[in-house]
Amino acid sequence: MQGVTELHVPSDTDDLARPYWNAPIETMPVEQMRDLQLRKLKRQVDSLYRQSRLYRRKLDDAGFKPGDLRTIDDLAGIPFTTKQELRAGQEEYPPFGSHQAAPMERIVRMTSTAGTTGKPVFQGYTKFDIAQRNESICRGLWGFGVRPGDRVINGFALSMFNAGVPFCTAIEHLGAVDVPVGAERRAEGLLSIARDVKATVFIGTPSFAAYLAEKAPEILGMEAKDLGFRVVCGGGESGFELPAFQREMERVWGTRHVYDWASTSDAHPNVFAHCAHRAGKHQLTPDLALVQLIDPATGELKEMSEGAEGEYIFTHLDRQACALMRYRTGDILRVYTQPCACGRTGFRMDIIGRSDDMLIVRGVNLFPSAVQSVIGGFMPKLTGKMQIVLREKGPKVEPPLHVRAECAAGIDPANEASMRDAIEKVIRRDLGVTTALELASFGTFERTATKTKLVVVEPAAKESVS
Ligand SMILES: [Zn+2]
Repeated sequence: MQGVTELHVPSDTDDLARPYWNAPIETMPVEQMRDLQLRKLKRQVDSLYRQSRLYRRKLDDAGFKPGDLRTIDDLAGIPFTTKQELRAGQEEYPPFGSHQAAPMERIVRMTSTAGTTGKPVFQGYTKFDIAQRNESICRGLWGFGVRPGDRVINGFALSMFNAGVPFCTAIEHLGAVDVPVGAERRAEGLLSIARDVKATVFIGTPSFAAYLAEKAPEILGMEAKDLGFRVVCGGGESGFELPAFQREMERVWGTRHVYDWASTSDAHPNVFAHCAHRAGKHQLTPDLALVQLIDPATGELKEMSEGAEGEYIFTHLDRQACALMRYRTGDILRVYTQPCACGRTGFRMDIIGRSDDMLIVRGVNLFPSAVQSVIGGFMPKLTGKMQIVLREKGPKVEPPLHVRAECAAGIDPANEASMRDAIEKVIRRDLGVTTALELASFGTFERTATKTKLVVVEPAAKESVS
């Protein structure tokens, strides 16, 4: 790949009309990318073997030497890495864990996972890692249409979160105005600043975007669509990828540019993001992380073909401080390999669930996000907020599945028996599951800037009240 500048270095003479942040990488033919990946993979495996306690041990235990890696397929000889291993390694070697592969003197930043499923896991970054991180975020934001001159409100949590400070740094790297408000300032603070600085881009969770639009008239005395936002984007939970939610956000924010973004804390700088066509999210960083699909039950690799589904694992290709190999994310993807009209190469994907949140309703596998998708189709009469209410912990559930969905403001659940029947019918037809749908009045679900739980366990679950 001689002659290819791998990271785009922004300059004052950059063509702002160009569609890609880094055209040589984002449009590289798949075969050529595969060669680049292999070259980088060899280097990464070699350096981890030499510098990471965890990987030295794992490779030795597996009888695998870095020189054994001749093709990408050979990577299958290295065992998976799990979150449990990272946690255990961190107990023993705080703060970053036994996989740390750069000396502490070269680590200049840390972030952490939210800790929603246990103790937070910390990630460290060298200056080199931050450069890759900036690049990866810029590829996404540039594709969304963010340009120098934009005032970008970061509405994610800034405290420790990897979409907090690292995003702010990347916004500056892109050349736009970083407005580091953070979810910590809540709706009042964020909306006032957005109005005062004439913000043009919002980044945050979809729940927060919806909540801000709902609160704007009360807090500012104006509709969100009159604030002048051009791009509304983010991720961290399901929402921005659902067509019905996109349409609702387009309506309330007054822009067609509503985009989804996905990554996980441990995976950075690997990111997935929509392009303007929103036909699944592109893996924007095939040069920084190798993504593969496995069968979550057997661990067998699955082919990345159009429509294939499986858990995604990744192997960093260019990470120093906290690189991971064959890391099991638990996220279940559906991938698309047909070319996208935007010209980017490589695959696109949607997250269809988590390997640990799948329910089995009398033998039918069901991801809560699939139910959410159906509920979203009934916006704007519903807010799109919903929860599956279990009597006891899954994954096995006896039908009917209890689903609680929230009506929009001004809609009386008592008058909506026909909508309830229609939703139950669509879920049965599309997902093969019988549900007892409870329509709840507006305001039932707590509004937060963070993730909304799709499944709750209420041991003495209320009977359906609708
Ligand atoms: Zn595209």
